[in-house]
This record gives sequence, C-alpha cells and structure tokens, in this order.
Amino acid sequence: MEAGIVGLPNVGKSTLFNALTAAGIPSENYPFCTIEPNVGVVAVPDQRLGEIQAHIPTEKVVPAILRLVDIAGLVKGASEGEGLGNKFLSHIREVDAILHVVRCFEGEITHVDGSVDPIRDIETIETELILADLQAVGSAKDKAARLTRSGDKDAKAKVAFLEKIEAHLDEGKPARQMEFADPEDRKTLKSLQLITAKKVLYVANVGEDDLTGESELVERVRQRAAEEGGEVVPVCGQLEAELAELDEADRAEMLESVGLEEPALAVLARGTYRTLGLQSYFTAGPKEIRAWTVPIGATAPEAAGVIHTDFQRGFIRVEVYSVDDLEELKSEKAIREAGRMRVEGKSYSMRDGDVCHFLFNV
Ligand code: GDP
Repeated sequence: MEAGIVGLPNVGKSTLFNALTAAGIPSENYPFCTIEPNVGVVAVPDQRLGEIQAHIPTEKVVPAILRLVDIAGLVKGASEGEGLGNKFLSHIREVDAILHVVRCFEGEITHVDGSVDPIRDIETIETELILADLQAVGSAKDKAARLTRSGDKDAKAKVAFLEKIEAHLDEGKPARQMEFADPEDRKTLKSLQLITAKKVLYVANVGEDDLTGESELVERVRQRAAEEGGEVVPVCGQLEAELAELDEADRAEMLESVGLEEPALAVLARGTYRTLGLQSYFTAGPKEIRAWTVPIGATAPEAAGVIHTDFQRGFIRVEVYSVDDLEELKSEKAIREAGRMRVEGKSYSMRDGDVCHFLFNV
C-alpha cells in the first residue's frame, strides 16, 4: 500500500514526512526544498498485534507496511511543466491514496500565495491534478481515435467513454466524483490511472495551539471533505517533528502532556485504511504474528491470496477467530474448547480483526 503526500510548498509536507519516517531529510522554509520524490516505509501501528502476542508467544511480529511518497514540486502551473512540477505528477500516478496536506496553522512561515487559506490551496492543487488528467485523457483519446479509423469497435466505445470523462474534468471536477451505472466503466477508469480518480485523505497541518483541529480553518476543510464523501485528520507537523526526536518513553509522556492519545502515524494510517476501504486480518503462530491488509468485503480465498497467490488457488477452508475471542479466552485451545473456532469456506467475507489459519492444497 502506497500513499503519496501532496500539497503546496511550505504547508509542512516534508516536516510531516520526515517525522513519520524519521528519515531526517532537510526541510527548510523554501518552496523548492524537496525536489526529489522521497519514499519512506513505515510500519502501520496496530495495537492488536501486541494483544495477540500477549497470548501467543512468537519469534517475531510483522506489522503491515505503508509506503509514503513525499511528492514535492506541485505548484500552480505544475501540469504545464513549470516549476519542476511535471515529472512529479508521474509519481502520483503510482500511489493508491493521496494524502493532501493543507496548511491550517497561522504564523510567519512564508506561504506561496501570501496568506493562509486551505480551501484556495486545495483548489490550486486540485486544478493542477485535473489539468494533468485532462492531458492524459486527451492522449488516450487520440490513441483510441486512431484505432477507430482501422475499424476497431471497442476503440469507438472507448472514445465515447473518454469524452465523458473529459467533459466531467472540464467542469473542474475530479474523476473520483464521477458516477457510473456500469461497473465496467469503473474498471476502464481505473485502467487510465488518473490522479484525480484516487481517494484523498485531507491532512490538516494544525498549529500547536489547535492539536485536535477545532479552528475555523480546519472546519472549512472538514466541510469541503464531507461534500465529496472524504475526511480530514488533524496533524501537527511541528509537534510530530519534536516527537520523532524522542525515545519511546519520552514520546509517550509528551503525547500525554499535550492531551493526544497517539502519534500522527497511527491516525494517518487508520485514516488511509478508512479512505481506501481496507481492513486487517492476522496470522499467528510460534514463528510469526503478522498483519495483512485486505479490502473490506474480501473473501477468504482473496485474503489468502494476499499471502501467496498459490494459497488463493489452492484454498480449501479457513479456521478463524477474532482478536476479541483471544483477549477473552486467552488461548487458541480455549477458543476451540468454547466452540468459537469457526471453520469457513470460499464464500466467507473477512472481518476486521480475524485471526486465520488457512488450509490449502499446493
Ligand atoms: P513543504 O514545502 O510542504 O514540504 O513544507 P516544510 O515541511 O518544508 O515546512 C515549511 C515550513 O513550515 C518549515 O519552516 C516548517 O518548520 C514549518 N512548519 C511545518 N509544519 C508546521 C506546523 O505544524 N506549525 C508551524 N508553526 N510550522 C510548521
């Protein structure tokens, strides 16, 4: 799973990225400071891993992984190749979700447009992304149009479809807001890899005086997100940067002293899961306890396929219980004895927090 961090210069992207990945990349009050797309790999915090480990001794615990890409260089005109922007757009095409950082903190840090206005910022970025998508759709349409001349029937339908998307984008609306009657259309849309078709989680970079994001600025972002069925998480880049410098114990103490329950990474990871419609299941044994990520609604064979494609093909059945069962009954043996170890087949829909033993043919 990969999330791309976008936002205007100076809104706090690299501060946040560095804090999250603790990679120590320099961040300065300068618009084009981060010109390389930086990639960091972070473990998705999940306290259930610890809860499982408390009852099932194991050699190692393997959390799910989130790849974070800091996509710098997005400015007004980026889609035209101005301001170092264009080559970064190609990096956004590859991510699963977009974390759109908006500045909601006041203060003397230079803003590229001179004042703090998160909605204007969101629209500036969105416009660039829509323009980039319009270019992509334009070239796809030219290509399909050439194919129609050689009598390709599918190409004709594709041109019509692309024109529909083009009209939608032309209205200044992101592709993720398009509605389709035919599920095939959604697949075709996906194949185009449009940036604005990706789900967005807004990250409100708040000041240290507004850690829970109660300010009017954050409220406006919240409204904007709600209009498109998305959400906002408030995060304070500055505080996270300070937290990243501390060891575990001091970090916990500092979090508590400012009244926060968990660091931004946990909040962002959960937000990303919700935004993408993902959930976790676990495998647990003496060698390893591990978290796996599946879409909500995934069937048991699909979940097994995340471990290995052979497991999906050879899936027979799954023995499954929940982390809650384990908390309550303390061991798999007790879960079995209580009749709570369920045996499920191919049509089973995975639930968040399932612990699984898959049985398969290879
Ligand atoms: P980027 O260009 O979006 O990557 O922004 P940076 O991460 O380089 O941050 C720009 C400036 O804003 C830096 O001087 C940061 O120290 C400062 N900054 C980032 N987050 C915060 C925050 O939460 N509060 C305050 N006051 N300053 C911040």
